Amino acid sequence: MIAVIKSTATESQIKNLIGWFEKQGVRVNESKGEFCTVLGLIGDTTGIDIDLLSGLDIIENVTRISDPFKKANRKFHPEDTIVDIGGVKIGGGNFAVIAGPCSVESEEQIVETAKAVKAAGATLLRGGAFKPRTSPYDFQGLKEEGLKLLIKAREATGLPIVTEIMGADQLHLFEDIDCLQVGARNMQNFELLKALGKSGKPVLLKRGIAATMKELLMSAEYIMAEGNENVILCERGIRTYETYTRNTFDLSAIPMLKELTHLPIVADPSHATGKASLIKPMSMASVASGADGLEIEVHPNPSKALSDGAQSLTPAQFEDVSAAIARIRAAL
Ligand code: PEP
Ligand code: MN
Repeated sequence: MIAVIKSTATESQIKNLIGWFEKQGVRVNESKGEFCTVLGLIGDTTGIDIDLLSGLDIIENVTRISDPFKKANRKFHPEDTIVDIGGVKIGGGNFAVIAGPCSVESEEQIVETAKAVKAAGATLLRGGAFKPRTSPYDFQGLKEEGLKLLIKAREATGLPIVTEIMGADQLHLFEDIDCLQVGARNMQNFELLKALGKSGKPVLLKRGIAATMKELLMSAEYIMAEGNENVILCERGIRTYETYTRNTFDLSAIPMLKELTHLPIVADPSHATGKASLIKPMSMASVASGADGLEIEVHPNPSKALSDGAQSLTPAQFEDVSAAIARIRAAL
């Protein structure tokens, strides 16, 4: 249930109302906007008389909502959330471009790529140190050494880092990392989500390969329920019967999620399509659809990449995509 409070209500009236709700056994999520305050009631609201509530002087309106995600819900929090990643903002009109290799492979590779993507307009650096691979025989990442190399690349460029964490037990290794990515395969690793919720760090939460949008939002809710509102969602394609593309890019998820949630939405055309040639058109489509950012894989020499070479752009190709994104943004 949500209650919109009139702008004329005083602080003490709102406080009294919150106290009354809490006595009824429901938790209250207070969201103060520029023009009104919205109270989100979480828990069993069946005992609350909606007509009685609507009749109160300070209430603008009351609505019962059945969505199981509360904190992520735009109805509770009409204004866009802005997440700050090491000084780079995303959401609420702030657009971020996360670029870099699938995997961190060497100091030279990550520093060179970081410099190139920064020069071409990227605002955040990506690179996997811990890699979730389908085969246990494939390159698993440089692990802790990879995290150290990412920090060197940040020192060289100033770009804050986005990198994947695979388990709650790794959290202590990520203290100096700006944004923790939860990969598609871990979207429902609830223990990890809860630990990230307690950490308070910005989280880039990727949609699972067979996850519905509601499931993605419920995973965001796990993080937010622990008090961490710094969640960014990522559409990275879902599994369908199609085989020409690695996954099927669910472009409509971008505007749909924007209606459902106030959290920023990033599109990842690299994993969504698996094909370097499709990154430019799908990046442009994502921006036109309202994405708050993009995550794009870039490698100095894609044919030699230790993972995801087929979908990685060269720095020159990334520059071209970056210019196309800027043109779409200007047109909007
Ligand atoms: C990645 O970003 O390199 C990655 C493994 O992505 P996803 O979890 O979306 O497959
Ligand atoms: Mn990858």
